[in-house]
Amino acid sequence: MNFAFYDTKQYDRESFEKVAEKSGISFKFFEDKLSIDTAELSRGCEGVCIFVNDVCDAAVIDKLYELGVKVIALRCAGYNNVDVHHAFGKIHIFHVPAYSPYAIAEHAMAMLLTSIRRIHKAYIRTREFNFSLNGLAGFDLHGKTVGVVGTGRIGKAFANICRGFGMNVLAYDKFPDSELDVKYVSLFELIENSDIISLHCPLNKDTYHMIDSDTIEKMKKGIVIINTSRGALIDAQALLEGIKSRKIGAACLDVYEEESDIFFEDFSGHIIDDDTLSLLISMPNVIVTSHQAFLTNEALQNIAQTTIDNINGFFENGYSKNELCYRCGKTADCGANGKPKKCF
Ligand code: NAD
Repeated sequence: MNFAFYDTKQYDRESFEKVAEKSGISFKFFEDKLSIDTAELSRGCEGVCIFVNDVCDAAVIDKLYELGVKVIALRCAGYNNVDVHHAFGKIHIFHVPAYSPYAIAEHAMAMLLTSIRRIHKAYIRTREFNFSLNGLAGFDLHGKTVGVVGTGRIGKAFANICRGFGMNVLAYDKFPDSELDVKYVSLFELIENSDIISLHCPLNKDTYHMIDSDTIEKMKKGIVIINTSRGALIDAQALLEGIKSRKIGAACLDVYEEESDIFFEDFSGHIIDDDTLSLLISMPNVIVTSHQAFLTNEALQNIAQTTIDNINGFFENGYSKNELCYRCGKTADCGANGKPKKCF
């Protein structure tokens, strides 16, 4: 079985080759991202394996279908880059719902601690034998209020880490989890009362730009905003204005709304054409990592294994438990009868 593997990085290749050895799947690794211009590379393949910034809109899906592709195997959790509804009746789509929520939750906390304890500045200072502490004062997390938006796998893990730090946890979720020991409030209350806000909900039409100039206006002065979810949850221009006006105390961004042509690549020595990102990076209280939160050995291994299980499960049994539902966009068990329990 041939699979076109788009947007390949060295670490992907290593983890997939290790797990694929006995799977009967032959991956053709391409550095290009999937788009209408590169879809042709999957000619002769049963499926494609894609990541967060591959383009999989209606036109690409039609082209893949025309080429005989049967399966789109996402090697990530989020699937906002795939037109799931358009694929219905043509191509099956799987994703990797959970590979290590701890990887992302721990990265969110790592960014928060780095930012508020000025570790990024101290690291550079001491490397130059500058042992001055001026300007490095931070604040305690103990006793502070963190607002967690989205209490699924990652939000839950992050809330638990925060509780370990002695923080008060407020949470907002469209579908609250009654078993989770946090105080659910409205998004409005969370925004008004939090010292730190961390985003862990998916990107969709309800959540696009959920942090914009209006919400920033309502936040406490000095708010710390963490985004390890999807860039477009935040209006980046509004964030920049909030930082320039000193309303926002710090921003920790692992994702950025216009990241697709920039993140994961080496642009050192180049001039970046994105003024908003350049200005954000230039701010002393902004930390940017390049969509790195998932990148642990455990997560890479789980991503490769689950992706291969999804593919083999489908070709052997006709379904995979991680197939997306083409109507409601959820994974397995969304309610209806039938094996994969999808509502279509
Ligand atoms: P999940 O599906 O387990 O949890 C998402 C939660 O968001 C659910 O509880 C859901 O009810 C809630 N939600 C849905 N719509 C909402 C809304 N409008 N407002 C508030 N809450 C809403 O997903 P997860 O595994 O916790 O992942 C969360 C997000 O993290 C993913 O969507 C993905 O975009 C992102 N992610 C980022 C990385 C990274 O490397 N930076 C890696 C994996 C996932």
